[in-house]
Amino acid sequence: MTDTPQAVPAASRARRDADKVRWAIVGASQIARSWVAKAIQSVPDAELVAVVSRSAARGRAFADDLGIPVSTTSLKSLFAETAIDAVYVSTNNARHRDDTLEAAAAGLHVLCEKPLGLTLYDAVEMARACDRAGVVLATNHHMRGAATHRAIRDLVLTGQIGRPLAARVMYCEYLPKELQTWRTKDKEQGGVIYDLTVHNVDVLRFVLADEPVEVMSMKASSLIGENGVEDQVQSIVNFASGLIAYMHEGQVFAHHETALEIHGTDGSIYGRGILDEAPSGRVYLRRGTEMTEIPVEPANLYATTIAQFDAAVLHGERPAATGWDGVASLATALAVRRSAQEGVRVSVPRFEGNPPVPVV
Ligand code: NDP
Repeated sequence: MTDTPQAVPAASRARRDADKVRWAIVGASQIARSWVAKAIQSVPDAELVAVVSRSAARGRAFADDLGIPVSTTSLKSLFAETAIDAVYVSTNNARHRDDTLEAAAAGLHVLCEKPLGLTLYDAVEMARACDRAGVVLATNHHMRGAATHRAIRDLVLTGQIGRPLAARVMYCEYLPKELQTWRTKDKEQGGVIYDLTVHNVDVLRFVLADEPVEVMSMKASSLIGENGVEDQVQSIVNFASGLIAYMHEGQVFAHHETALEIHGTDGSIYGRGILDEAPSGRVYLRRGTEMTEIPVEPANLYATTIAQFDAAVLHGERPAATGWDGVASLATALAVRRSAQEGVRVSVPRFEGNPPVPVV
């Protein structure tokens, strides 16, 4: 595998002159089957043309079930035989790096699942390789597509709660039995930190337009994590503005409602049940003892993400979460892991090319 961009096949070049993005899904995964394939199919300027799976039989069944024309077993044969513009890398965590680098080297735009890579070195390499190849790299931090999260971000950035002083985010759920495979057993690529901490970090970066600088964390293998793989973690995070956040991620809570709170000088925001794959939950603004519900029009999170990715490919806009946003969420998540392992406060490294979330 190389990160050096190679000659770009004509059929795969960016389609600034076209009105559709032709997509392939890499990895016949659960999340692609449940959400992302249908999201691509629902977006008017997206066309889902292929799936790549190491297993010919599973790939074929996936393609048949979802009405996808092409099924193949390798990226190489996909590039040779099918005209596509973008790939959705939906493989297990350990394969994100190689699949992304291979696609970028072929001149394809990439929406990669989180965590972007297993190490910061890999994630930075991926972001730089895509920058050099002139292709869009986005990270599937799908929560940025949630109408609830966008409403909270608007409230914060338009000053409705004054200066934000503290935040709390709790992404606590019970991981379904069928997903208790590599996520809960494999020390190299599993664990709740790769699974949910990256999301919580990105949620806070997105709604606050602020950057984590230091963390202090504790983790545990409470119920379903095997071989030392953690299934819950709690952290305190210092942000550049001086705000302090509390984050809790867990895969062992069957009865816990997810929640996001931001507390400022002039008000508090309460998001209830709003960390999910489905559009769900409610947002409230509280001033004194008065609680007002903020009206939110639910929209499919993944379709919103795909539409924004297509706008990046076709019109040069910003994807919902860039590759560098994926580097940033991983940098904090890895600081969380080190803090929990070593029992120390850990600074979050920043990278050249990692711009703060723009205020729009
Ligand atoms: P799966 O375990 O379903 O799939 C991971 C890979 O394993 C697939 O790419 C597939 O590759 C292979 N695979 C799938 N089914 C089987 C099977 N029955 N037997 C053997 N191999 C199989 O992963 P998830 O869908 O849970 O997660 C995929 C990625 O998406 C992860 O990186 C995860 O972190 C991320 N994710 C993101 C979410 C989000 O909302 N942003 C939500 C859920 C997951 P192949 O077809 O090539 O064999």
